[in-house]
Amino acid sequence: MPKAQETVLEIDLKALQHNFEYLKSKLKPTTKFLAVVKAFAYGSDPCEIALFLQDLEVDYFAVAYTEEGIAIRTAGITKPILVLHPQTVDFEYLIEYDLEPSLYNQKILNEFIAKLSEKQIANYPIHLKFNTGLNRLGFWHTEVETIAKILSETTTVKVESLLSHLAASEDLNEKAFSLKQIEDFKAISENFTKQVGYKPLHHICNTSGILNYPEAHFDMVRSGIGLYGFGNSKKENPFFKPVATLKTVISQIHNIVPGESIGYNRAYKTDVHLRSATLPIGHADGIGRPYGNGKGFVTINGKKAPILGNVCMDMIMVNVTDIDCNEGDEVIIFGKSPNAEELAGAANTISYELITSISQRVKRIFIK
Ligand SMILES: *Cc1c(COP(=O)(O)O)cnc(C)c1O
Repeated sequence: MPKAQETVLEIDLKALQHNFEYLKSKLKPTTKFLAVVKAFAYGSDPCEIALFLQDLEVDYFAVAYTEEGIAIRTAGITKPILVLHPQTVDFEYLIEYDLEPSLYNQKILNEFIAKLSEKQIANYPIHLKFNTGLNRLGFWHTEVETIAKILSETTTVKVESLLSHLAASEDLNEKAFSLKQIEDFKAISENFTKQVGYKPLHHICNTSGILNYPEAHFDMVRSGIGLYGFGNSKKENPFFKPVATLKTVISQIHNIVPGESIGYNRAYKTDVHLRSATLPIGHADGIGRPYGNGKGFVTINGKKAPILGNVCMDMIMVNVTDIDCNEGDEVIIFGKSPNAEELAGAANTISYELITSISQRVKRIFIK
């Protein structure tokens, strides 16, 4: 891999393939695989990632919003694309680009049916989401009969799948709760089939669900974070390879004398001599202010350099007093080691937030 000469996010497609194959090895051959590529494929690059996964024979894709679906459809995705959180104002485009909405209450179901009627479309694939305990989005289990009645009065839609989402699939202390969600979802699916007369696909597992609840893989699983290299546990992490590596370079080194301060608000003051390095990456690139003031760190020539003072919009300063380094040297923010989960933990957040925060200003480079 070439040394970074500016701030770059390297995306290792071989690592993506490895993670996909590892997750697939946990499934029965008949279980379908849905790849979640929302939020710029967890901060990487939705189009490159989706096209690569399409070649690996992923069955389905999911995005959060319609525009994200349009982006990958336009880039050449021909597989079905599920839109997890469609907004009514986007229905026109959603239909134009052949995207499949996950509908979660009677209001949005009726509005979608009305839109299809207006356009005289029949059998449009939709997905129905049920709330089994996350209490975020979803029909309640008591609504199955009402849904069946709505469906019996229209030919506009065909229910392709029923889904639910686990609230704590990574937390084995909540195993009883997750198992209850799974049981409730099964009962909803059975009741749906009884009321409506056909059996759509059903799916509930995200990445940690795949790893922790093999009995709940059902017809399909939905993986995001696992594809990008995180298993959400000490036990599973070693089997995954982080896909994204965020790198930068040292722009300038300063020798700071006692009594001086570093950065905005003079947040770091020193009473000893120290050497600081200024790096061209800041909160506008995705390294938020909580990483400042010694919480976050970068890695230079294999050694940890803590962030000094406040994170600026376009820069951070790090302590390199004990590190043999020069202006122009490469700096690792996160990657295979330390990984994004370790760095995120230093600022009390999670890998998901750190990787999805890397802004579009950072150049993406693909390693094939
Ligand atoms: C984001 C999301 C996923 C993916 O979850 P991971 O933990 O990243 O695997 C799956 N299902 C739904 C409904 C989601 O919103």
